[in-house]
Amino acid sequence: MKLKIWGARGSIPAPGPETTRYGGNTSCVEVRLSDGSLLVLDAGTGIRNLGLALGREDAERVNVLLTHLHLDHIQGLMFFTPLFNPNAEVVIWGPSSPEASLRERIGRYISAPLAPLEVRELPCHLSFRDSPTSDWQIGPARISAASVTHRGPTLAYRITDGDTSLCYIPDHEPAVGASIEELDPEWLSGYDLACGASLLLHDCQYRDDEYPGHVGWGHSGMSDALAFAARTEVERALLFHHDPLHTDSELDQLYEQALERWTDLGCSTRPLEMAKERQELTIAAPAPV
Ligand SMILES: [Zn+2]
Ligand SMILES: [Zn+2]
Repeated sequence: MKLKIWGARGSIPAPGPETTRYGGNTSCVEVRLSDGSLLVLDAGTGIRNLGLALGREDAERVNVLLTHLHLDHIQGLMFFTPLFNPNAEVVIWGPSSPEASLRERIGRYISAPLAPLEVRELPCHLSFRDSPTSDWQIGPARISAASVTHRGPTLAYRITDGDTSLCYIPDHEPAVGASIEELDPEWLSGYDLACGASLLLHDCQYRDDEYPGHVGWGHSGMSDALAFAARTEVERALLFHHDPLHTDSELDQLYEQALERWTDLGCSTRPLEMAKERQELTIAAPAPV
């Protein structure tokens, strides 16, 4: 599997000279499966640049997996070029809600007065599907979805392709102020989904000194993000969903602190990185033993 980060920011786009290295676009990750097919994780503002970079063939079949419908995860959808390609087939997966269908809920954004067009006017072949509660297949990948602790119906995804697995949990407050180290796995949101993943992308919105003022907001402080990655014994972790207030130099400092904490947790042999816009990653199959 190959990944490209098109948006690593949380909450709201944060463009400007202070955020050029980590990027200002909100959540969007391109995933290339082993057969070359395209999966897109979330449709934050980063998806606009992904759409512009796609070749014509890529644009013809796209699966988009939405974790939830907060604006920072859907805002780019209306500017995603395949939606305007009459030959493209786009499937949008997302969390179900008793309140309204996925199509209706997304239509609240892609409709007047917030948008100049309606969902029915998009020229591509567009379908909306509730992400199933049991595993399903997209191309060579097995997809699992699970509800995680955030505000409103929110999913996380695990994508397994051959011997490699990617777990994507961009918005997550796993312990809501409790100790992640002490919770039983069955009480730890996202545990089963993330356990042993080749790569975990996880919410790291706050510095530890910021988190106490934001308990219950649905996001993780740095130490909680790392404690979750350590508890789930992932092989590699990428810290994601950066706070819009955090500048490049502040994120550099946060990364230094995270590396120290990661070592304290006994995980220094496992790669830990900060997600950066346009960063490309390859998830390799484990070496034979
Ligand atoms: Zn978010
Ligand atoms: Zn959110």
